[in-house]
Amino acid sequence: MTTAPQTAPADALPSELVRRLLTLATAGSAPSVEVFAPATGVKIADLPQSDTADIENAFVTARRAQREWVQRPVRERVAVLRRFHDLVLAEQDIILDIVQTETGKSRVHAFDEVGDVAVNARYYAAQAQRLLAPRNPRGVLPVLTRVEVRHRPKGVVAVISPWNYPLALAVSDALPALAAGNAVVARPDNQTALTALWAIDAAERAGLPKGLWQAVLGRGSVIGGEIIARADYVDYTGSSSTGRTIARQAGERLIGCSLELGGKNPMLVLADADVSAAAKIAVRACFASAGQLCESIERIYVHDSVYERFVTEFAQHTRNLALGSARDYSYEIGSLTFQRQIDTVTAHVEDAVAKGATVLAGGRARPDLGPYFYEPTILADVRDGMTVYREETFGPVVSVYRVGSDEEAVERANDSAYGLNASVWSRDTGRARQIAARVEAGSVNVNEGFIAAWGSVAAPSGGLGISGGGRRHGPEGLRKYIDTQTIAVQRALPIAPLPGMSEAMWAKTMTLYFGVMKALRQ
Ligand code: NAD
Repeated sequence: MTTAPQTAPADALPSELVRRLLTLATAGSAPSVEVFAPATGVKIADLPQSDTADIENAFVTARRAQREWVQRPVRERVAVLRRFHDLVLAEQDIILDIVQTETGKSRVHAFDEVGDVAVNARYYAAQAQRLLAPRNPRGVLPVLTRVEVRHRPKGVVAVISPWNYPLALAVSDALPALAAGNAVVARPDNQTALTALWAIDAAERAGLPKGLWQAVLGRGSVIGGEIIARADYVDYTGSSSTGRTIARQAGERLIGCSLELGGKNPMLVLADADVSAAAKIAVRACFASAGQLCESIERIYVHDSVYERFVTEFAQHTRNLALGSARDYSYEIGSLTFQRQIDTVTAHVEDAVAKGATVLAGGRARPDLGPYFYEPTILADVRDGMTVYREETFGPVVSVYRVGSDEEAVERANDSAYGLNASVWSRDTGRARQIAARVEAGSVNVNEGFIAAWGSVAAPSGGLGISGGGRRHGPEGLRKYIDTQTIAVQRALPIAPLPGMSEAMWAKTMTLYFGVMKALRQ
């Protein structure tokens, strides 16, 4: 495991920038909290916090702004997304610094977030007009009944996002909501609030009306209920256990919610896989953002015939990873974000080792690099009964398992309550697709780890099982933020017996009509 040179401390953000961004939050009434840079332990900001009055203000302002915004033609709304896309790319150095400082992740993985926001902005800018266009399905009586289905924004959408991909998860779900004519009240995680505030600032500079996208700040467990009590829809990303709380609160109000939750994602390396390619990509698939990625691979099932070769190459690549926190692209793996993350990682590895697991790479913290660095870790000989076997680690730890057949690989991959992401490796992509279809996961990548499906933003992304039923990306990622309204106009004749016609005659006529329609396959 090598250590990259520390070309710049990852803790220092220009104080003027921090001050300016903090003014954008609807917060300040509750006592502030201190936020520290994970890679160095240095303080980033005293973060203002929102109380109930702040949250109420944010929603009142957002509702006012939304009434005006929804009147704007979709092409005007998406023009803002296009300008925002350009700003994010043009100003990427600033936002990359903020993301790295707040999360401790490497620049390599911070850039994935810039890319994610750019492709989502571009996709929804290009597609929103089509997705929001009214349509005219057939009426109950063709020609005589004219039906129009219109789309109405929900109103004010709450986007409650976590800290691990703070730009992607706070922004990419807000963009389709805004394009659809909603306002957004965001609750970014305290640890990564500056990232979300930077995005709001950039969107306003791109032409978004002030007040339409606001941020309230506070711990989710403290202010989450107050937010949901006022929202028209909730978009939540985080753990499955918090997802249950959010679903209960949204259910109580009968508002919709989209839940993007945890994962324990499997990779299947079949006998005919390109083993070297799989071993190389597995590194990124397992250790992006030090494994603090919902899509990241935590279980690898390798066919017996290629197990030794895969494990040798994978372990070699993993040991070669450069760990460090400089603000450049010279290293791959940054810091974990919190003490509790390193505690979980340490506990999972220690429990596994104590019960007989073997460490093939990593397996130790690196306090010499920063308080929360942990070496990317590969475990073998992991068995049911070890914590890491079923529970999400959400850190740089993956277990490799030897399997004797495709059948066994699929069965073991599906032996999980989660179902977010999966990866299947085979030179025969037809066979791999058949296997993929049998894996219980919302996304399956063939000959890739997660980025092929995640980055294909025209296709929906989301989980099965306790990974949540929400969908982001694609038409689904926008349609969740709208309601449909059907307007049916009856012309010339009523849907009732004609004057002088008995009810019995009407029933006969309609029976004939239903038969004709069925024969015409209408
Ligand atoms: P967590 O559920 O403890 O916290 C996530 C966020 O939810 C935090 O910002 C927290 O403040 C907020 N929160 C907590 N309680 C809340 C409440 N009652 N109301 C509103 N908000 C509340 O999870 P965590 O461990 O901090 O985050 C990691 C988890 O998130 C992992 O399980 C990971 O897989 C999941 N995740 C999922 C996706 C996805 O797209 N499926 C993406 C990223 C992270």
